[in-house]
Amino acid sequence: MDMKEYIEQAEKDLLHTYNRYQIVLDRGEGVYLYDIEGKKYLDFVAGIAVFALGYHYPGYDEALKAQIDKLLHTSNYYYNVPAIEAARRLKKLSGMDRVFFTNSGAEALEGAIKAAKKYAWQKDGAQDHDLVAMNHSFHGRTMGALAVTGNPKYREPFEPLIGNVSFAGLNDFDSVMSCVTDKTCGIILEPVQGEGGLQPASEEFLQKLRALCDERDILLIFDEVQCGMGRTGYPYAWQRYGVKPDILTSAKALGCGVPVGAFMMTERVAQNSLTSGDHGTTYGGNPLAAAAVEKVLEIYERDGIVEHVQKIAPYLEKRLKELSEKYDCIIEHRGVGLMQGLVFDRPVGEIITRAVEKGLLLINAGPDIIRFVPPLIITKQHIDDMIGILDTCIE
Ligand SMILES: *Cc1c(COP(=O)(O)O)cnc(C)c1O
Repeated sequence: MDMKEYIEQAEKDLLHTYNRYQIVLDRGEGVYLYDIEGKKYLDFVAGIAVFALGYHYPGYDEALKAQIDKLLHTSNYYYNVPAIEAARRLKKLSGMDRVFFTNSGAEALEGAIKAAKKYAWQKDGAQDHDLVAMNHSFHGRTMGALAVTGNPKYREPFEPLIGNVSFAGLNDFDSVMSCVTDKTCGIILEPVQGEGGLQPASEEFLQKLRALCDERDILLIFDEVQCGMGRTGYPYAWQRYGVKPDILTSAKALGCGVPVGAFMMTERVAQNSLTSGDHGTTYGGNPLAAAAVEKVLEIYERDGIVEHVQKIAPYLEKRLKELSEKYDCIIEHRGVGLMQGLVFDRPVGEIITRAVEKGLLLINAGPDIIRFVPPLIITKQHIDDMIGILDTCIE
């Protein structure tokens, strides 16, 4: 079958929940993808901030293949070495004390929400605790994660979701204060919003949230599914701000292509929340997924991936800023590290479609924003190539 026939077939068989670009991808190499007809694409999407190491990073495939030959899965009722090693490395990178592996970002959020609820329930036995989340946030598509996602369009058809969630403005501490009650068990946010438009929290805002949470014994939950794993130039974004959460979620780049996520917590929360029988998952952190995490974290440390982001990100920022100065239709440039966005005064769908035709993969974040979340291993040359193509697409 050719590409057109595959796409027709897909549109008959797959549930249509995505408006997909009209290409069928086949293989990857470094920061490039190839479709089934052999056309090459420079990849500034990275599977949406997943392929931090690009495709076929030295040593990664071998680690997975070795694990496949040994053991793919065990129940979580038994220990396995890759999960033990992955947790040890993840604790070191994240600065958190306890790890629970999941299969996805949304599932990590579910665990984080359950931990916060259990923590509060343990204190007073009440069942009406509430959560404060942010407008324009994105936390995933399951019922719990969706309940704290600050996009009414995503939530409305599925109401009622878990109740007692109110939404405040990012960087608007007064609006958080007006949401917080004496039943609030958690405040949840992305330190840098991804899907919602590449909006970073301010340091002052996070500091105030931390002080508020300490004062009222509320758990501060950072969703770093997208902005974690080095993307901001720090292992996790909380380290950039120096404001540590009580619960931290991770996924996307955690397995660099193998579906895996995690929620993590401090020892204090661990000792006072989820305990035997409170939570589980069949696949979460199975030996294959854990082998991926273990290898990814080993590579991060050995090859200085986070340090590379610190070095290369200012160049992406500079080139995007130049582009935004060149075109009136670009009204803002924002973001942190290798998580950047260009805000346009019009929908960006057409520009992205043109870029795909010219061999450049980009993704939007909302209708008017182009999001840049490339593999963390990109070089100046890749950035120049990307800017060159994008420039002709805007023209
Ligand atoms: C992608 C994303 C999620 C959801 O992760 P899935 O693996 O798609 O379930 C949650 N939070 C943030 C910040 C994300 O970017």
